[in-house]
Amino acid sequence: MSFLDIFSKKKKVQSAPEEAPKHWVKCDKCNSLMYFKEVHIQSKVCPKCEYHMKLSAKERIALLSDEGSFVEFDKNLIPTDPLKFVDKKSYKKRISQAREKTGNSSAVISGECNVFGMPIQLVCFDFTFMGGSLASVEGEKIVRAVNRSIEKKQPLVIVSSSGGARMQESTYALLQMSKTSAAIKRLSDHKIPYISILTDPTMGGVSASFAWLGDIILAEPEALVGFAGQRVIKQTIGADLPEGFQKSEFLLEHGLIDMIVKRGKMKKTIYDLLNYFSDDSLVQEEFVGIEYHKQTQELDNEAIIEELDSKEVSEEIKDEALEKAEEIVEEKKEFELKLKNKS
Ligand SMILES: [Zn+2]
Repeated sequence: MSFLDIFSKKKKVQSAPEEAPKHWVKCDKCNSLMYFKEVHIQSKVCPKCEYHMKLSAKERIALLSDEGSFVEFDKNLIPTDPLKFVDKKSYKKRISQAREKTGNSSAVISGECNVFGMPIQLVCFDFTFMGGSLASVEGEKIVRAVNRSIEKKQPLVIVSSSGGARMQESTYALLQMSKTSAAIKRLSDHKIPYISILTDPTMGGVSASFAWLGDIILAEPEALVGFAGQRVIKQTIGADLPEGFQKSEFLLEHGLIDMIVKRGKMKKTIYDLLNYFSDDSLVQEEFVGIEYHKQTQELDNEAIIEELDSKEVSEEIKDEALEKAEEIVEEKKEFELKLKNKS
């Protein structure tokens, strides 16, 4: 064995630890080192300190939508380079690298899916695609999602995770703030509910436009949400910032957001909130339909109660059962009335 052989062998041994990060995850908050399955099973929430690690757009879609229900739209919209922008690398190169890294065509994945059977339009940002930055394609995808929401009378949910407007598209990127805000206004004119979900981080032009315009604004715990970065603000005002500044807990305390929702409860919360909306605005005709169906199904209990009546059970149980049956019949009447008023 030559000296070079020993050297090359040693090199091989050194390359082994590269595999380690795939199997072990370190929590950014409590520094615990955990086996990746332990973390992934909890949707990337640290089992030790509940720190919410970043999710990709695809992971977010899997978390929020019913299995197999997501249909992606506008996948063929691809960023162009209108300004022929070059910094350390050309913008074109950055786009192709981001596409290769994430498998996405832009920083946003948009589409239609079901949440516990309720159809919605869903838009998710991917922070790993150029910091989830907002540019022409992302803005256009949001506007098209709004248009589908109006057309199909489906609620809109946008999950933001973004550093802000994409500097490589300059004014074209900044224009997306007004373009998306105007689209959200149209959504509001049509009385279609829009839930904005802020995740770590939601900054710059994204927070300064559609992300703050939700009918209901939810945030994940400890998410960094703001417009300018803390260092810039500190330098501008020349004072120390309060503890927890720009964290979702701080924003909730100061009335800027409506709720902090843990990742495990996000899907159910979206469903429950949209159900509240549906009662008044009746945007989702299906909502009432589903409830009606549930009630009529329960009405089959009447037959059971009749049967119960013919059998030897105590009066107390019979009374209770009949009372319940009456309640159901009343509820059914109410639902029928609701449906009648609607049509
Ligand atoms: Zn942790």
